Amino acid sequence: MRMKRAWRYRLYPSKVQEEKLNSYLCECKDLWNSLLKYTKTCYDETGKFPTRKELYLLTKKWPLFAQVAQNVADRLSKSLRGMLLKKKAGKRAGFPRFKPIERIKSFTYPQFGFRLAERLKLSGIGSISIKKHRDITGTIKTLTIKRIPSGKWFAIFISEVEAPEVTRKTGTRVGLDLGIETFAQLSDRSKIENPRYLKLAEERLKLIQRRMSKKKKGSMNKVKARKDVAVAHEKLTNKRRDFLHKVSHFLVNQYALIAMEALNTEGLARGFLAKEVLDCSWAEFSSMIRYKAEEAGCEVVFVNPANTTSTCSSCGRIHKKVLAERWHTCACGADMPRDLNAAINILNRATGGTPGCQACGEETSTDYKHNRQVSSMKQEAHAIGRG
Ligand SMILES: [Zn+2]
Repeated sequence: MRMKRAWRYRLYPSKVQEEKLNSYLCECKDLWNSLLKYTKTCYDETGKFPTRKELYLLTKKWPLFAQVAQNVADRLSKSLRGMLLKKKAGKRAGFPRFKPIERIKSFTYPQFGFRLAERLKLSGIGSISIKKHRDITGTIKTLTIKRIPSGKWFAIFISEVEAPEVTRKTGTRVGLDLGIETFAQLSDRSKIENPRYLKLAEERLKLIQRRMSKKKKGSMNKVKARKDVAVAHEKLTNKRRDFLHKVSHFLVNQYALIAMEALNTEGLARGFLAKEVLDCSWAEFSSMIRYKAEEAGCEVVFVNPANTTSTCSSCGRIHKKVLAERWHTCACGADMPRDLNAAINILNRATGGTPGCQACGEETSTDYKHNRQVSSMKQEAHAIGRG
């Protein structure tokens, strides 16, 4: 089986190269908006979307490397398809939007147009200095060039590697309930706490954000404050990523099976910062666990997250709980922290155990298959799409 890995390296473009990179982002934005406008007109007049081929034709005259331009068309086709799928499923879905420059953060070479040696050679841009802190394994498939809000540039390669032949471990199974105060509650009663340095970095970010919101709109101070926020945000993200690497490494080595909730990012409340950072890091954590487990011979099962908190892990009865209720008590005698109850439920769903009974009957083993949700998130989406 082949699997994908993402590799992220810092780029150090010269002033001239940076101007070119920025102009590439700008051209990508203009191209996206122009293709979208064409799509809308097309849709209004004929009730149909233009084909990918038609969109490709429109990218021809654009001052971008051909494949980069085509990739913009691909991104648009993909979001149109996504919209149709959502509508089919009876969900609300809007047309893709026109984008201001801030929303375009990256561009992609889907196949050709780059060469990696001592430096990174990009068609249309030049030979850029790159810090390769480790060697890429596998066959390189795509390259995405990304600018993060603090102004740093990164190259993200996606390579395809042959998944190593590993023998599945046997041993302890564990259920994981990811939380806000505590990073994770494990079904074996242990906990993984958020480290203090993360809380401090988060506090600092909040402080700097508050400071920014007080600056006058359009002033130089506001611009400066915005940059400070971007830097603090980046620091927090980096620290959090290190922590996630450590935790996922520990877990896949410690356990033979890890059960987690399949993330339902759509359903998560958005809007305030802590939550947003959390959503990203949960998604990132899931993808880390997945690829690390693959190499360690550990099995990961993503289960349906419905009612994991409200179901009693001993008898299966449902008790709706408000967020403030931190304890689970039940008429059956169950008496334990709310998150521990959830973690046990998550493990039960993955292993086909019914509440209070770990036995695997015939009936429960069908449940087991039913509950196994292979989440569709892809590693590269996280490496590229966020932060
Ligand atoms: Zn009960």
